[in-house]
Amino acid sequence: MPLGEISWLRRGACRTSDPELFFPLAPSPGQEARAKAVCAGCQVLDQCRDYALSAGESEGIWGGMTPVERRRARFPTGWHSPAAS
Ligand code: SF4
Repeated sequence: MPLGEISWLRRGACRTSDPELFFPLAPSPGQEARAKAVCAGCQVLDQCRDYALSAGESEGIWGGMTPVERRRARFPTGWHSPAAS
């Protein structure tokens, strides 16, 4: 995705945060909670979440969601690929 399309990221509350908080080498519940607390006060949370879900971002905290939470949102229980039908 061209950088211009995610220019809203420059207004993100995480712009001054340590990237390790959002893209940790070793994720932990405490790190996720701290990152989500930053997201909770972010003015572009909805845009960030929509982008991450539509782009299929597989790493890091985006829009207050972990990779596992985004996967569950994209592929809820019972979902299966139409190609697998
Ligand atoms: S929602 Fe979270 S990850 Fe997205 S821009 Fe805001 S602070 Fe950063």
